[in-house]
Amino acid sequence: MRVRRNGPGSDDTRWDAVVVGAGFAGSLVAQRLGARGWRVLVLEAGRTAPTAGGTHLMGDAPGTSVVDQWQRCWDHPNLYAVGCGSMPSLGTSNPSLTMAALALRSAERIHQDLLALRRPAALSAPSPPSSPPSSSPSEPS
Ligand SMILES: Cc1cc2nc3c(=O)[nH]c(=O)nc-3n(C[C@H](O)[C@H](O)[C@H](O)COP(=O)(O)OP(=O)(O)OC[C@H]3O[C@@H](n4cnc5c(N)ncnc54)[C@H](O)[C@@H]3O)c2cc1C
Repeated sequence: MRVRRNGPGSDDTRWDAVVVGAGFAGSLVAQRLGARGWRVLVLEAGRTAPTAGGTHLMGDAPGTSVVDQWQRCWDHPNLYAVGCGSMPSLGTSNPSLTMAALALRSAERIHQDLLALRRPAALSAPSPPSSPPSSSPSEPS
């Protein structure tokens, strides 16, 4: 995945998707969409409390849940709430691996949504950066 930081003077403010929260689920969705060639903006507040289960309940009807089986908000089709908050209950073991599977499933669905919107994205994985000159150390991404 290509990581790009927009600094002062940058005029590149076009994004195909915005991921709010780079926790476990958000990072997976951002990585998967970025690998598909979509331009993803990630906004991370940092130092927030862990997401509690059930805060954006997943279900099969808008009257009794916030998101559907794809973690898409019933009320806003272009808004997904992906994370452990979709879980109606938590068992005795940690939910992270189940959430990872659900997040990757949501990312695929978002990818299909973006294709349907015919967003003008370069739908190919970005080419690897060329080798830096041997005299200058490579910058961590
Ligand atoms: C102490 C502790 C230990 C754990 N140990 C394990 C373990 O060993 N194994 C395991 O499987 N699970 C473990 N878990 C559970 C695991 O951390 C969660 O299941 C997982 O992180 C949930 O992922 P998530 O993406 O739903 O939410 P999170 O990982 O909480 O991600 C949400 C992100 O959104 C950000 N955010 C929140 N609000 C905003 C905002 N307004 N704007 C921008 N960003 C925002 C947060 O800073 C955070 O980075 C542990 C949890 C805790 C608290």
